[in-house]
Amino acid sequence: MIAPRDAVIIGAGHNALVAAFYLAKAGLKPLLLEQRDAPGGAAATAEFHPGFRCSVLAHTAGPLLPQIAADMQLTRHGLEMMEPGVRLAAVAPDGCAFALFTDVARSVESLRRFSAADAEGYTRLAATLERAAPVIADLLSLTPPAIDEPVQNLPDLWKLLHTGRTFRKLGRKEMFQLLRWPPMPVADFVAEFFETELARAAIAARGIFGAAAGPWSAGTAATLLLRAAADPHPAGPSAVPRGGLGALATALAAAAREAGAEIRTGTKVAQILVRDGAATGVALETGEEISAKIVVSSADAKRTFLRLVDAVHLEPFFLTQVRNFRSMGSVAKVNLALDALPEFPALAKLDGQPSKFLIGRLHIGQDIDYLERAFDASKYGEISAEPILEICVPSLLDPGLAPAGKHVMSIYAQFAPYHLKRGDWNGRREELGDLVVKTLTAHAPKIEEAILARQVLTPLDMEQQFGLTGGHPFHGELALDQLFTMRPVLDAARYRAPIRGLYLCGSSTHPGTGLTGASGLNAAREILRDHKK
Ligand SMILES: Cc1cc2nc3c(=O)[nH]c(=O)nc-3n(C[C@H](O)[C@H](O)[C@H](O)COP(=O)(O)OP(=O)(O)OC[C@H]3O[C@@H](n4cnc5c(N)ncnc54)[C@H](O)[C@@H]3O)c2cc1C
Repeated sequence: MIAPRDAVIIGAGHNALVAAFYLAKAGLKPLLLEQRDAPGGAAATAEFHPGFRCSVLAHTAGPLLPQIAADMQLTRHGLEMMEPGVRLAAVAPDGCAFALFTDVARSVESLRRFSAADAEGYTRLAATLERAAPVIADLLSLTPPAIDEPVQNLPDLWKLLHTGRTFRKLGRKEMFQLLRWPPMPVADFVAEFFETELARAAIAARGIFGAAAGPWSAGTAATLLLRAAADPHPAGPSAVPRGGLGALATALAAAAREAGAEIRTGTKVAQILVRDGAATGVALETGEEISAKIVVSSADAKRTFLRLVDAVHLEPFFLTQVRNFRSMGSVAKVNLALDALPEFPALAKLDGQPSKFLIGRLHIGQDIDYLERAFDASKYGEISAEPILEICVPSLLDPGLAPAGKHVMSIYAQFAPYHLKRGDWNGRREELGDLVVKTLTAHAPKIEEAILARQVLTPLDMEQQFGLTGGHPFHGELALDQLFTMRPVLDAARYRAPIRGLYLCGSSTHPGTGLTGASGLNAAREILRDHKK
């Protein structure tokens, strides 16, 4: 048994690193215990073929809350974010295509050639999200109120009042719209702005990414709006760190270490130790025990409460709620090592070098029915025959990721359900890879000739290699009944577990929307509040 620590943090994903930084800044000496050989969790870069590296899982960042990037001085710690200017291009097999840029006017111009009505709709959507986003953004860094005692302290009250004031500033009409949209299917939401199927599908995809939901599922508009809070651009972010997402993790880790945190990699926590209703430390897989008054888990809620804590310390109803927290992943990741840049004939019809449009994200899934059909298959445990693809070629902006003249292509493929009706992922991994290449070939006919190697990561791989229970990218569905005061469950939505001294800081807590760092920031604030008491 080594000397007791101020705080141990299970995992060193981006949220854990953010939480560790704020705890260390407040004078604690947190110790992070990470099972993988590098910090970062799902924000990782790795070589998957000799000379070819890319972001293994996530390929664009949340983005991180500006407050966190500034406090942690990530630029000084070596982070270089590259903003490609192109956010999203969308192509259809009939050759239709459009592109959306960071600049609204350029996006409108690109859409106008495609559809005048969509150009007008895009202007409305961009303006709407720009006005609505601050209201939701306010909520991202707020601790969800307690159900029985909604306002527990003055800063919470102030923040809630501030959110209320921002909401009222929207004006009566938009206030009602913002209440009306979240429960809607994202397919209906986008139909209020666009007339063409390609535009509808490309924007709607943001509402269903990572979800066990199709565009006609109720509440998917809420996910789109939640994501827009972190980046109000209708298509979402496309900025990437030089060196891939692993470079973001490296900078976060450097900032946390400089503030006073210690990170041990290759260290798996086997159990959270509890005595008399309070966490007392952790036991490692090796049998070593580390005692601490504060134990923070950045692992997902299911892993934390169903695997790391002995069930005797938790109420049966609480355990039932955790078991019912929906966290079955449905996204796969395919990374391709390419001998040459593939040609997408539809992109050649756009104004500019076709390769320019591969610098941002490329959407494949030409209409709402295509997205829904892709989801339908997964409901019954099947891999989508024509998956929705989101593609980027980070080596165009960051040539160091591949040998000279060659490229890496990073692809999200949806839907690939964790639970398969036939066989298992070890037997069907390459079938999924083949389906992705086949789907790509319909848009880039010669791509197969350029593929030197491919890496296929299924939800099972994400669970086994990254500790994501069910392979869920966000540790649990971002659905209306699993958000805010209900994330992960009603009784533990304020980062505190129902065990004294045990906290959660990962994506299964509010807001949980990807690589924003907000869960880590909020958890650290609550831990410090208790610590000061
Ligand atoms: C395919 C894919 C695509 C994605 N795309 C995007 C995107 O485009 N944009 C975006 O913003 N987000 C994206 N995400 C989501 C984003 O990556 C996650 O939301 C984010 O990484 C969660 O961060 P976290 O710190 O909460 O948890 P994680 O990153 O999951 O980190 C948790 C850490 O805990 C460790 N751990 C777990 N159990 C133990 C244990 N017992 N002992 C020691 N260590 C343990 C794990 O190894 C891991 O390192 C994507 C995710 C995936 C999988």
